[in-house]
Amino acid sequence: MEVELTAPNGKKWSQPLGLFINNEFVKSSNEQKIASINPATEEEICSVFAATSSDVDSAVAAARKAFKDPSWKSLSGTERGALLTKLADLLAEHAETLATIECLDNGKPYSVALNENVPEVVNVLKYYAGYADKNFGQVIDAGPAKFAYTLKEPLGVCGQIIPWNYPLDMAAWKLGPALCCGNTVVLKLAEQTPLSMLYVARLIKEAGFPPGVVNLINGHGREAGTALVQHPQVDKVAFTGSTATGKEIMKMASATMKNITLETGGKSPLIVFEDADLDLAAKWSHIGIMSNQGQICTATSRILVQKKVYDDFIRRFKAKVEEISVVGDPFEENTFQGPQVTKAQYDRVLSYIKSGQEEGATIALGGKPAPQKGKGFFIAPTVFTDVKPSMKIFREEIFGPCVAVVQFETEEEAIELANDTTYGLGSALFTKDLVRAHRVAREIEAGMVWINSSNDSDFRIPFGGVKQSGIGRELGEAGLAPYCNTKAIHVNIGE
Ligand code: NAD
Repeated sequence: MEVELTAPNGKKWSQPLGLFINNEFVKSSNEQKIASINPATEEEICSVFAATSSDVDSAVAAARKAFKDPSWKSLSGTERGALLTKLADLLAEHAETLATIECLDNGKPYSVALNENVPEVVNVLKYYAGYADKNFGQVIDAGPAKFAYTLKEPLGVCGQIIPWNYPLDMAAWKLGPALCCGNTVVLKLAEQTPLSMLYVARLIKEAGFPPGVVNLINGHGREAGTALVQHPQVDKVAFTGSTATGKEIMKMASATMKNITLETGGKSPLIVFEDADLDLAAKWSHIGIMSNQGQICTATSRILVQKKVYDDFIRRFKAKVEEISVVGDPFEENTFQGPQVTKAQYDRVLSYIKSGQEEGATIALGGKPAPQKGKGFFIAPTVFTDVKPSMKIFREEIFGPCVAVVQFETEEEAIELANDTTYGLGSALFTKDLVRAHRVAREIEAGMVWINSSNDSDFRIPFGGVKQSGIGRELGEAGLAPYCNTKAIHVNIGE
């Protein structure tokens, strides 16, 4: 049920391999497993049990029982907050092991996992721990004879499905608000990257969460994912992943009219106006697309540059990418970019690069694999110029270190290009003109706008999309709404 592992940085740990149901690790009912591959070396790390639909039944039954059990149901918000705080503290204590696992299983640089991802997870859990006893209803005065009060009550069993690009962060974004509000959870991990959260499962038990409150299952989307979404005993589904899967989930969830939150794909624009600080724009344009191997739903993967500064911007942007995007072993300290997460993603990104070339765009930088010692799913950071808005590389989510740059002449044209997409997740704009910044920010069809930066994310600030980028919000106070009902209780004090 567990295996002893040692990473290239010398870190050793005991890796759980089971499904975490009722605070215990168990095998899947037919003992099926999925291999986890190190994307930097293409070698198998270990094989992890993968849930069948009957395992999903067991996990949901555990969560349903726990939801009604006084050991969870009778806890005050303050007590739930204390459990979340304890879990956050344990994660901080185990930061180096968690960052090591994330680096090995996902391919992201160790330094990023240690200094950005784990601290973010700790912050998210502590933030929602703080809200657990501050999320209450109102008293509504309806005249002398009647009044009403509202209660914020949990929804019940939440089925949560996360992707592979941020295995720890995505889990925390979902667990934090759900547990804060008193729900119980069955969280399906991404089959490509289950290892870090299975390690966290032990810490969940150690923190003192009663059995069945948090259940973590690895498994394929088509099997475990669909079983969870269709399960009649699941009250809510929260999903992060591709838009195509999000649409399927919406359809499946409609059968039992489940409450849903979806955080799906994006093709976020970054607009550089001619009055912008071009060094600042180049710096953030690089961060906005090349971070996390380009595997970010909010990646600003379309850069729109005003004609007058186009050449100047391209020169500075290319210099930034060449200087900072060091591709290499994710355990090396100076590595900025590790491998793509899987062979499938690697092939997918390369096929987009090919399509860009075939459609007539120019590869200004990169455009090819970048294997390390002949191995790994590494791709050179790629910048396309001479891009037309009709090209696939401008329209479709690539989810890799690959950006398309186009020119525009007027502010109206920039807004039109920015909004010419079915997506609406992030967006960024660079200008020194305060009035223009706020005017354009209001016009862009997106859930988030960054003025003079890109991909700033903060646990206190709502995150989510419009159009086909999703439904609902995560993080911030807004992240609580998808996890509780507002129940109205009418009181008659008249006749
Ligand atoms: P995906 O949407 O297929 O998978 C995301 C999660 O959903 C995984 O846990 C998966 O097992 C599960 N899943 C898949 N099919 C399901 C189904 N029918 N029912 C229930 N759950 C299901 O994403 P992917 O195949 O891993 O990646 C494909 C593309 O999705 C990427 O290239 C990228 O464009 C996009 N993506 C977006 C995000 C994001 O954060 N928005 C994250 C990962 C991938």
